[in-house]
Amino acid sequence: MKHNCESCSTPIGFKGVCWKCRTEQERNEVLAWTHEQITSKIQHLIAHAGRLSKWDTDEYDVCCKLLEIRGICPPELQRAALEARAFSMEQLYYNAPVDVRDGMITLLMEATDSREASELMTCLAMQGDDQALQTLLMLERNPRPWREKLYVNPSVYAQAGGWTFDQEGNRHELNYATCYAMEKGDKSIDNTAVIGRLCQDTCPHCSCQLVDMLVLDGQDERLKFLGMDGIFTATGCPNCCGFTDAVFSRFTWDGGSTPIFPYNELEDEMENYVDEDVMKELLANPYILGKTPVPLFYGVGSEDINTIGGFASWVQDWQYIACPDCSKPMKYVAQIQWDTVMDYSEGTLYIEVCLDCSIASMHHQQT
Ligand SMILES: [Zn+2]
Ligand SMILES: [Zn+2]
Ligand SMILES: [Zn+2]
Repeated sequence: MKHNCESCSTPIGFKGVCWKCRTEQERNEVLAWTHEQITSKIQHLIAHAGRLSKWDTDEYDVCCKLLEIRGICPPELQRAALEARAFSMEQLYYNAPVDVRDGMITLLMEATDSREASELMTCLAMQGDDQALQTLLMLERNPRPWREKLYVNPSVYAQAGGWTFDQEGNRHELNYATCYAMEKGDKSIDNTAVIGRLCQDTCPHCSCQLVDMLVLDGQDERLKFLGMDGIFTATGCPNCCGFTDAVFSRFTWDGGSTPIFPYNELEDEMENYVDEDVMKELLANPYILGKTPVPLFYGVGSEDINTIGGFASWVQDWQYIACPDCSKPMKYVAQIQWDTVMDYSEGTLYIEVCLDCSIASMHHQQT
């Protein structure tokens, strides 16, 4: 039985609304929560903070919505979550006050179990101040017994909070502390941020025409937070970038961009699935930069939103690509949900930058 979404008319296999429209409706409901409603929800969460340690509880869901869609997570809630030992939602501890930080450090120092240490390091990374750095640095230099059971070092756990440190303890920011969402709008009026612009050249692996996957005008007032001196461009093959670990391009602030080939681990002859219709759809996507910033975790909880800055919604673990020139982890710039621009595809494209080397990276994750 064929049906169309009652809201956007997209063909779907059931009566009702498609998942994208349903997600949007849910988000709009959260955006409509009043001050009184929010206050009472927070009181409820504080009283039942223990339930925040389980992702399938209503409390967990409400806490995520408050944090991601409304940008709300007061210190009293962070204190209650610490008290209840609820460490499975690390975002909850973003910029938490020093008493919460110290509580986490004490527990981390007492931890004997690797899983517990792993959760606490992730939450401490989200708190993210200098003392958090010093603690993780100390644990990297003097590994505890639980370290043997973990795959990566504390400096990689720090990345969960959008930063890391080198062997000398110097801090490197890997995320921007401002976030904008892309909205549907008129690209002829606002082209500050463009997803998908056709290039002349073709891909040497699959012959698909190359695309500037993202073009940002760093001079626009809204994007000043990126610290970019001009036009940022990330260019790649829309067909091949899902088949390799990461692809790169080199940009110049005057708008130039050169893709770096060959792509790692790809054969010479790749099949091209991006036919003319798919390409048309990609280039015709309706997204423009939103007018005002959104909460930092806005793009984390949803699969239907493209964001610039802030935190990414990692399908798997967080992943900051090593710059091919200087080997440092690159800085996260944006995420594009493939099916918002190409209906047939799945997963997320993450775009990162090394500002020192003027290199853009693009990598893909999916379930
Ligand atoms: Zn719909
Ligand atoms: Zn290709
Ligand atoms: Zn670099």
